[in-house]
Amino acid sequence: MLKDRVAIVTGGTRGIGLETVRVFYENKAQVVLFGSRKETVEEALEILKKEGVIVKGYYPNLNDMEEVEKVVKMIQEEYGHIDILVNNAGISANKKIEDTTTEEFQKIMDLNVNAIFNMVKAVVPMMKEQGGVILNTSSMVSIYGQPSGVGYPASKFAVNGMTKSLARELAPFQIRVNAVAPGITRTDMVSSLPKEMIEPLIKTIPLGRIGEPRDIANAFLFLASDLASYVTGEILSVDGAARS
Ligand code: NAD
Repeated sequence: MLKDRVAIVTGGTRGIGLETVRVFYENKAQVVLFGSRKETVEEALEILKKEGVIVKGYYPNLNDMEEVEKVVKMIQEEYGHIDILVNNAGISANKKIEDTTTEEFQKIMDLNVNAIFNMVKAVVPMMKEQGGVILNTSSMVSIYGQPSGVGYPASKFAVNGMTKSLARELAPFQIRVNAVAPGITRTDMVSSLPKEMIEPLIKTIPLGRIGEPRDIANAFLFLASDLASYVTGEILSVDGAARS
């Protein structure tokens, strides 16, 4: 489904991003994953290599525009084009507002929102010439908020806003922009949250189970592929109908 496409997946070292790398590779894309640190990138590349998945990996500081532009340019020079960008790197929060520092709030915005702005800004000049697909990782909390940890849903509401606005701005250049809004998905992000918070939530999911990274990666595959050629500005919920 992605033959001859070149894809960048941020936050590609584990969880949803790592599975997206696998699914894109299985569908014949050339994939470059980004992670936060040299060690985690090397570890992910090693895991993938053992599975026969051969991809490249980098660890630019996504909040440093110059660094982002440099690595994107390097990838463009090496592969000739970048067709798909998956903005997946993200961090969450669950502290009450009075326990959340300004720095903690800012840190979430920096990665979940500003890093997407930087990545999009870096790829758009090239995509404007050839078309492309930009995919963002939102969350079901971008629809309903969450009981504590206001920075996280706030950042995902912003992701939806960027998705819808950029879809309209970039449509004339044949650049499609969509987001996937996962429900609770089995990754490190969820295992780091208190059991008392997660288990009651899982019980309320109409499909009766937690999401798997592959459920989300398959949605990215659809949106990245030509099957979604007339889909843009969409926030696709992949959450087993867990809407509360
Ligand atoms: P994860 O914690 O397993 O993976 C997060 C990824 O982000 C890692 O690859 C990590 O390297 C990268 N990352 C973290 N900090 C970074 C930084 N400072 N700079 C660059 N990269 C950084 O999480 P996940 O569950 O796979 O989450 C992936 C995306 O899915 C996130 O945007 C998250 O908000 C979203 N999401 C997850 C769930 C869930 O239940 N797991 C639900 C909804 C949305």
